[in-house]
Amino acid sequence: MSKTVPILIVGGGPVGLALAGDLGWRGVRCLLIEQSDGSIYQPRQDFVGIRTMEFCRRWGLVSAVEASPYPRDVPQDNVYVTSLTGYELGRERFPSMGAEKPPPASPQKRERCPQNMFDPILQAFASSQPSVELRYRTRLLGFVQERDRVVATVEDLDGARRYEIAAHYIAGCDGARSLVRETLGIGMAGNPAVTYTTNIIFRCPHLVSLHDKGQAYRFIILGTEGVWATIVAINGRDQWRMSIVGSAEPRELTLDEIHAAIWRAVGIDFDYEILTILPWVRRELVADRFRNGRGFILGDAAHAMSPTGGFGMNTGLGDAVDLSWKLAAVLEGWGGPALLDTYEVERRPVGARNVAEASRNLRRMLAPRHNPALLDDTVEGVRVRQEVGREFSDSMRHEWFTLGMHLGYRYEGSPICWPDGTAAPPDDPKTYVPTARPGHRAPHAWLADGRSTLDLFGRGFALLDLGADAADVAALRAAAQQCNMPMQATRIDDPAVLALYERRLVLVRPDGHVAWRDDRAPAAPSRLIDCVRGAGSDGVAGLHEAATAM
Ligand SMILES: Cc1cc2nc3c(=O)[nH]c(=O)nc-3n(C[C@H](O)[C@H](O)[C@H](O)COP(=O)(O)OP(=O)(O)OC[C@H]3O[C@@H](n4cnc5c(N)ncnc54)[C@H](O)[C@@H]3O)c2cc1C
Repeated sequence: MSKTVPILIVGGGPVGLALAGDLGWRGVRCLLIEQSDGSIYQPRQDFVGIRTMEFCRRWGLVSAVEASPYPRDVPQDNVYVTSLTGYELGRERFPSMGAEKPPPASPQKRERCPQNMFDPILQAFASSQPSVELRYRTRLLGFVQERDRVVATVEDLDGARRYEIAAHYIAGCDGARSLVRETLGIGMAGNPAVTYTTNIIFRCPHLVSLHDKGQAYRFIILGTEGVWATIVAINGRDQWRMSIVGSAEPRELTLDEIHAAIWRAVGIDFDYEILTILPWVRRELVADRFRNGRGFILGDAAHAMSPTGGFGMNTGLGDAVDLSWKLAAVLEGWGGPALLDTYEVERRPVGARNVAEASRNLRRMLAPRHNPALLDDTVEGVRVRQEVGREFSDSMRHEWFTLGMHLGYRYEGSPICWPDGTAAPPDDPKTYVPTARPGHRAPHAWLADGRSTLDLFGRGFALLDLGADAADVAALRAAAQQCNMPMQATRIDDPAVLALYERRLVLVRPDGHVAWRDDRAPAAPSRLIDCVRGAGSDGVAGLHEAATAM
């Protein structure tokens, strides 16, 4: 057994790679093991949410995402059809990635970058960090927790050699069937099998020329029985991913059934090549705990949700960003003993929230059922198509407009966020209300030098001085220095930023969430600093009491 590695990450999907990358970006040593060779057999995620793009901005990856091979000129419309050559029932128009502009609330915008393009960007980011080692074709077989470390048994799948790795902490980013979660004895609550779905990637370079619906990102296909399939432009060019939604009944489709489904969805017989077929189970699950001792779970290991909405990976990257700075703080010695417990306190509610909304999206998508006249070439058929199209278009907007989901999550009641007594804005999936209330993502504003406020956040704590007394800034600086908590104070003389942040002093955590705000430093600045770094003497509960008592 070689010497103890600070953090062992299990799983090199997007979440494990993001955790490794962010830890490396903070200079923390970690080892990631991944059982595959890193090739993507079938891309799942393709929607990179706006918050994830803000993380990419911090990591310097925006231009790599923009330069990925997904074409920037393909309109991103969602189109509701009876088949690609059949009736169009409705359409939500979206510009291409090249034409879409960031909303006022962010310096970034969402992107389309499928997993086989996005994972390599994260992988290159992680492996470019000197403190990160990625070890592919290496499988975790099991691990035990000891008092001050975990000892994992792994297998080198090429050399068929087993060996042990000792680590201070283990992070399970090993997907829905997580061995780390199982070994930690953590259960999951919810529905383990919502649908048995089949994804087929097929190649057909001329598909767009076979129908009259034009280029689009996604076609949702409705029959008389309701929505039964979707087809997405998975690489925006010649490859298409068809999902046959299925039901809660386990069922494996034959190749003949798959061919029949493709023809039915397109509405004509045509030439194509099936590249991959992936049966998968749609789940609706949240882990009971996100931590046990020295083990943590993140991403699909911690929450498994329907892809409707594109929240899965984006939620997992949020987990990684939350846990990373806390692990770094504890390993660097300035993070207090309660800090790591706050990972579960903060992220589990977000996981549950996103799982629930993904399921609501699924229910909305599957809502139209049993419209026997949908395909009829009759007056009644026209009426049914108009009605179904109108209702479906209205209800699907919930899935397409989700700025609130991506930017509006907050760490309400977190013991390391100091409440200021203000009321929370509604947590509405569609609408994001910018606020610097403690627990929320610190909002974006452009600064005079062309940077975003978000560009000030990341490495350590950021103290925004929006016109405070120098003595107050000095007092907070001294309290942070006393416990080696990294904190950079930045003076901003801009009434618009002050109006947005509403207080003259705002303390922002390394993950970009507000920890505290006020016009003056508290009477005992060290109590505040101890709170935000998780240094209460009696764990999470004690920290919360201290914060609310101030
Ligand atoms: C059809 C579909 C479309 C989707 N679209 C989107 C989308 O647009 N946006 C979005 O945000 N999400 C989307 N998702 C969800 C997204 O794909 C997942 O949430 C995301 O991949 C989870 O990442 P992860 O790193 O947690 O897990 P995974 O991607 O599952 O990675 C886990 C990794 O762990 C490795 N591993 C497992 N066990 C071991 C072991 N014992 N030892 C070593 N390695 C191990 C696996 O090989 C794997 O590489 C979609 C999902 C599906 C099914």
